[in-house]
Amino acid sequence: MAGEIKSARKEIKSTKEMKQIMAEYYYQLDHAAKSSEKKVAWCSSVGPAEILRSMGFSVYFPENHSAMLGVTRMATDLIPYANAIGYSPDICSYLTADIGAYLKKVTPLSRAYPEIKNVPKPDVLVFNTNQCRDVQDWFGWFASEFDAPMVGIHTHRGINDVTDTYVQSIAHQMEEMIEPLEKISGNKFDMNELKRVLSMSRECSDLWKNVLDTAVAAPSPLTFFDSTIHMGPAVVLRGTQQAVDYYKLLLSELEEKIREQEGAVDGEQFRFFWEGMPVWGRLRDHSEFFAGRKACIVASTYCNSWIFSDFDASDPFKSMAKAYTELFIVRSDEAKEKYLKEMIDFFKIDGVIYHDAKTCPNNSNNRYGMPQRLEEETGIPALVINGDLNDLRCLSDEQTKTNFEAFIEQLEVD
Ligand code: SF4
Repeated sequence: MAGEIKSARKEIKSTKEMKQIMAEYYYQLDHAAKSSEKKVAWCSSVGPAEILRSMGFSVYFPENHSAMLGVTRMATDLIPYANAIGYSPDICSYLTADIGAYLKKVTPLSRAYPEIKNVPKPDVLVFNTNQCRDVQDWFGWFASEFDAPMVGIHTHRGINDVTDTYVQSIAHQMEEMIEPLEKISGNKFDMNELKRVLSMSRECSDLWKNVLDTAVAAPSPLTFFDSTIHMGPAVVLRGTQQAVDYYKLLLSELEEKIREQEGAVDGEQFRFFWEGMPVWGRLRDHSEFFAGRKACIVASTYCNSWIFSDFDASDPFKSMAKAYTELFIVRSDEAKEKYLKEMIDFFKIDGVIYHDAKTCPNNSNNRYGMPQRLEEETGIPALVINGDLNDLRCLSDEQTKTNFEAFIEQLEVD
């Protein structure tokens, strides 16, 4: 039966260091919230973290928390509590799982870090709708719950070319945040500090890109599943020295693996691209399934989302506005398809897997003919699987594995 051949994930030694810095990050955040030594800002995952960090906030990312709810498979049981107060099972399951966890007074942080009992109380919530509207609704609920102020950036979406008009508009919104954030933080905005943080964030981004690009080697030293774990510091610690140091360490380990021809998947035969969200509660199953069939998912649009190559400390606001608007999720289908073709060529991809995540239309790009168009243009086959990032009721494991199996068999025949 499909799914019986499995192969364990290969170890990445730097994981130990990553767990350590993630633990320090969460303990520092918890301390900041409890001691009131620093103000806490909640930030959407591709929100203006650099501004917040430069103004002295401890920055917390609810999406990372919700991904933890997914990985620990706590999410599915918690979503109905948010549904019961009016948040539909059809909307973002990060949002519903996170609100559900708060209502039930549980958090996966307590499992990983026993001294942490709850998520840090926000002094302000800051979002950017570049990814979706759901972050605004999600943060809005918590703003009301904690009686905390909320500020946000409203980004144009479905953008083809990121023109100066768009960039000016976002840069202006970022600048307008400064005054309310100064009042909340009690700190005066310091342009030099923003430039310092932004330089470090750019360095983190460049290193993270280099890490992901090591997958161009055949065999690839890492898989998409590894990257979903190792992207943690790029999300929550960008703009800090710890993230920079961590990615230098990880990069040197992966370069060593390339020199030693040590692939993440033994006997790599097929190279796939993953388009869309991971299924957090099935990372291990999917990873072992593909490794058992000598197939490596080498790259993804998802993990590439924390590459901000336009950050430029000589022009902070405009370059941040550009970088946070250049992202795949913000763009038109035409721009997305151009990008995917480049990825298919660069990583020498044999097949593209599209994850149609039931509760995230924003990160599901299969619904308007894209797989068919790209397959026709590139000759690279596509597979669409139905599932979800956090709500495991939206997927059938048997069906998914049968689809994966048939896709690989088709490539073996070709
Ligand atoms: S992009 Fe998707 S998963 Fe992320 S917050 Fe928005 S709706 Fe949720």
